[in-house]
Amino acid sequence: MPPINLPGKIALIPSPTPLVPMPRLLKVPDPPDFWLKRDENTAPGFGGNKVRKLEYLLADALRRNCDTVITAGAIQSNHCRQTAAAAASVGLECHLALGGEEPPSSQGNLLLDRLFGARIHWMGDERKGEGLDALEAQLQEQGKRPCVIPYGGSNTVGALGFVEAAFELERQLSAAGKSRVKIVIASSSGGTQAGLSLGIRLLRADWELHGINVDKDEAGDLPYRQHLAELASATAEQLGSSERLEPGDFQVHSDFIKHPYAVMSPKEKTLIKEIASRTGVLLDPVYTARAMAGCVHLIEQGIFKTGDTLVFWHTGGLPALFAYADDLMS
Ligand SMILES: *Cc1c(COP(=O)(O)O)cnc(C)c1O
Repeated sequence: MPPINLPGKIALIPSPTPLVPMPRLLKVPDPPDFWLKRDENTAPGFGGNKVRKLEYLLADALRRNCDTVITAGAIQSNHCRQTAAAAASVGLECHLALGGEEPPSSQGNLLLDRLFGARIHWMGDERKGEGLDALEAQLQEQGKRPCVIPYGGSNTVGALGFVEAAFELERQLSAAGKSRVKIVIASSSGGTQAGLSLGIRLLRADWELHGINVDKDEAGDLPYRQHLAELASATAEQLGSSERLEPGDFQVHSDFIKHPYAVMSPKEKTLIKEIASRTGVLLDPVYTARAMAGCVHLIEQGIFKTGDTLVFWHTGGLPALFAYADDLMS
């Protein structure tokens, strides 16, 4: 029995997603016992971690009688692509506020946004949803009933998808006879890490969760940990739980990152190629390659060691590979 009741959702994912042992994932001396949580396989629209959030976000939009959803992201946003796909699958109109200017050709996620019928608004420097309120007002004037989904789907409704994901992982780990696991995820807008952390707290599980903050804040990790604590606590409150999380409850790593968001480092490029050719597992160029580089870093630091059970949570992002083809092959 889950420790708390979650509100109703629209089922978009064939669940549970596989949890598979991957002993050869990383070629390092004395590797931990590696497992992969395969959220890159969540349908629809090539899947990824945002579909878990969208199961709750779109149910909420339909309950509020919206006929249109609006969200925002970078030009290769996985969140926007998954929102466009999920909206199409339930018959909602989808508007995307994308950072940058319209490129000469549509690659990767942008191609899919267009195939899923999303209306695209080019926002220049605003890739994190700064223009969403203005867009909402404009669509209301046209007689639509829009519902705004924040950047990354990371609000107290979207985070529920990862509270539930923690319950799902718990069932899989107990079936596999594993406990005391360490989990690594790519972290950026926070809904994934905040939701999982709250789920872990509600379960009283003895797991360690390590977030790799791919969109590193030059001011350090404290502002991000504060954001995670606020989001997890507000999500608990909305569920009627008295749990409250503090910034100190979150482990976030980014000090090893030298490249800006969405720019692959040589190490990340090498990891994508080596892991794909050795194991058949694909990493994406923005999030999971960086999280895997983080894993290597944490192994080098002795934080992950032989004997640890390590779950690498694959959060998806694979269509972006096609937009990085030239960079990957250079
Ligand atoms: C959005 C995203 C993340 C980060 O999840 P947040 O909930 O935004 O922190 C990680 N990996 C991939 C592939 C993503 O698209």
